[in-house]
Amino acid sequence: MAVKARFFRDEEGRYVLELAVEAQVAVTCQRCLGELEECLQSQTQLVALWSDADAGQLPARYDPLVVGEELDLWQAVEDELLLALPNYSYHSDIECGSQTGVVVEPDDDNGIDGDEGGQQQSPFDVLKTLKQDS
Ligand SMILES: [Zn+2]
Repeated sequence: MAVKARFFRDEEGRYVLELAVEAQVAVTCQRCLGELEECLQSQTQLVALWSDADAGQLPARYDPLVVGEELDLWQAVEDELLLALPNYSYHSDIECGSQTGVVVEPDDDNGIDGDEGGQQQSPFDVLKTLKQDS
């Protein structure tokens, strides 16, 4: 897993955290329930805010990052990875262990909340995988 973080203040004085995350994670193929390696890549610009109320004022290129007393960088990285994680993952037809040909239609909407439908792995499974890799 690789994380690049850059902090700077933009021309309007916002505190910006630019985050580029790349990670190899193991997810479950929703067709054969076998394991599948997925490479997640994500880049984002987060603006440190001290309250939710300011979030509505942000230009579209920014995502809000509500920080408390101090910024938890690992938490921000974790959130970013969870957002990058597809709701459903499948092997390609050749690699897949399932011979049933039954395909569950993937939900294209990579939802912001990312936790709909009971089929997604728990965030903690993902973290376990990350720890093993590093
Ligand atoms: Zn499969």
